[in-house]
Amino acid sequence: MQSVTTERHDDVLVILVNNPPVNALSWHVRQGIKDGIDEALGDDAIKAVVLRCAGQTFIAGADITEFGKPAQGPDFNEVLNSIELASKPVVAAIHGTALGGGLETALVCHYRVAVPSAMLGVPEVKLGLLPGAGGTQRLPRIVGIEVAAQMVSSGDPLPAAKAQELGLVDALAGDATLAEDAIAFARKMIAQGPRPTRDRPIIGDIAVIEKLKAANARKWKGFEAPYANLACVEAATRLPFEEGMKFERTEFMKLMTGSQSAAQRHMFFAERQAAKIDGLPKDVQLREIKKVGVIGAGTMGGGISMNFLQAGIPVTIVEMAQEALDRGVGVIRKNYEASAAKGRFTPEKVEKMMGLLTPSLSMDDLADCDLVIEAVYESMDVKKDVFGKLDKIVKQGAILASNTSYLDVNEIAAATSRPADVLGMHFFSPANVMKLLEVVRGDATALDALATVMALAKKIKKVAVVAGVCHGFIGNRMLSQRQNPANQLLMEGATPAQIDKVHTDFGMPMGPFQMADLAGLDIGWHRDPSRIDTIRDAMCAAGRFGQKNGKGFYDYDEKRNATPSAEALAIIEDFRSKSNLAKREISDQEIIERTLYPMVNEGYKILEEGKAQRASDIDVVWIYGYGWPVYRGGPMFWGDLEGAGKIVEALERHGVKVADSLKAKA
Ligand code: NAD
Repeated sequence: MQSVTTERHDDVLVILVNNPPVNALSWHVRQGIKDGIDEALGDDAIKAVVLRCAGQTFIAGADITEFGKPAQGPDFNEVLNSIELASKPVVAAIHGTALGGGLETALVCHYRVAVPSAMLGVPEVKLGLLPGAGGTQRLPRIVGIEVAAQMVSSGDPLPAAKAQELGLVDALAGDATLAEDAIAFARKMIAQGPRPTRDRPIIGDIAVIEKLKAANARKWKGFEAPYANLACVEAATRLPFEEGMKFERTEFMKLMTGSQSAAQRHMFFAERQAAKIDGLPKDVQLREIKKVGVIGAGTMGGGISMNFLQAGIPVTIVEMAQEALDRGVGVIRKNYEASAAKGRFTPEKVEKMMGLLTPSLSMDDLADCDLVIEAVYESMDVKKDVFGKLDKIVKQGAILASNTSYLDVNEIAAATSRPADVLGMHFFSPANVMKLLEVVRGDATALDALATVMALAKKIKKVAVVAGVCHGFIGNRMLSQRQNPANQLLMEGATPAQIDKVHTDFGMPMGPFQMADLAGLDIGWHRDPSRIDTIRDAMCAAGRFGQKNGKGFYDYDEKRNATPSAEALAIIEDFRSKSNLAKREISDQEIIERTLYPMVNEGYKILEEGKAQRASDIDVVWIYGYGWPVYRGGPMFWGDLEGAGKIVEALERHGVKVADSLKAKA
């Protein structure tokens, strides 16, 4: 079958692309479009052209299966030029999505007609790239500098109606009548003639680019692509079109061959891969989850519940005392109302979600739940007691999950008579915000229970990763490999601020000590001020518990702004002086070698032990659970960039036991 055909409608030639599933720009599509334009130009009876697509969408972008293969057919830019420079008006008829190369194709057409449900955008920035076939040069000529700058730097698509308002779409068509409407529109444009985008003047104020940079300074920190996209738009305003195209090409190649886009493209595939359970038979029947129970309405239980309420799934939340229950439910309402105030929900939606929540003081009310998630104190005895009770109360076939951060899920499962129905669902704080869900697979966990929870994760908009049972699973297990040496570095002369800065400069949202202060230094503290075994003990003994009481490794003001603390430094110094360790200058490089390399090493150990299914899952955990910068592709991807040889050498120099598989790679 030919992927591009032409149809004559009196004086209008329709070029119809039909390359399922998404009309990607394969070589034969490019060839077919070019041939169609030649046909139109060679025929005096044809006065206008419509470019339209069959199937579910307009051209959705490049054909990724052609990447890395020898070039075939006409070059994309050559095809685009043939459309733009055609002597007869060409109209793009858009339905579905016109994204990336698809929108770039529409931008060289002289006019654009779209159905109301169509979406138009250039999402390249999200993969660390820019629209490299003239998108950054033509968009400002159609919609002006401000909108173009916004579109290329955010990557967010516009719905057709908005696109029409902004001049990107010339006319809206009927959903069912796009074909005829586009032909009629093209016919109307015959008198007007072609309107090559490259010849259109650019309007708008270049100052908006600097404003956009200032407004997004935090969000874009460390990223190259948003700035490269904006540099291209800026170039479009001062360079002749052909020169601007060259500028765009150079910037595109820089991004395409650089490590950031490689990292972002890696993460794009890693995220999709993470959802897959190795060896899962195709015929596994998922269990139905129509009602969820949550035990504990504290920090985690409340946030966990919100995910399900937002997805329209009723939740029964159980606490031990009325006061704790009221507080927990109150926090949920307050969070929703704050979101509503920001316009994220309507007040009606808030009430609807709260209406799905049933607060209770009795675990008996969980009997008919399809899934129960426990989020009580991090204590094995308490958890075993809860699971023992659940076993007697909850209906057979229900999934029983623990939100434990570190504890042995097998031991928790053994407190029930149905360990096959037990697994870990490790949410991250704040649980209604953080995207990651570690799904902990116990030795006895049934495949259908695991598969059900992985599928449910998608429903509540989480990115789920399967983890095996081990202390701290994937994320927190690696976190300890960062925190322990960070504490040790304090003993040797580094300051919390120095170590944290290395991590934030690296792109992490916060460093180890900022994170410790946020979580609370008294977590797991033995509560005996006279017993001081660690710097943390010393901090707690001095009443420094972290952000919660305004003092930890840093001092905090009412707005929780941190400043280095003389008292904290004195506590560290005092503790260090008792240890016989000499104080010395610590370099930033040493901080990287001793706090980040061990994480990579631990990742290899996790893989060796089969506690993660694949290296890219570990990257997903760190990006979605801890804010590892996506442009560095997660610790495993970053480890490869650094080089196994370099990492092994440094770890051995610092006396760290290196994973065999990492050593083998060096
Ligand atoms: P929290 O102290 O804020 O909340 C625990 C709640 O459970 C309390 O309100 C308590 O009253 C209630 N509770 C205790 N025993 C109960 C019982 N038998 N029946 C009903 N309610 C009971 O603690 P949290 O921070 O929400 O942590 C809960 C769990 O989540 C822990 O296992 C923790 O390790 C894990 N977790 C915490 C975080 C975090 O950042 N806070 C992140 C991931 C996982």
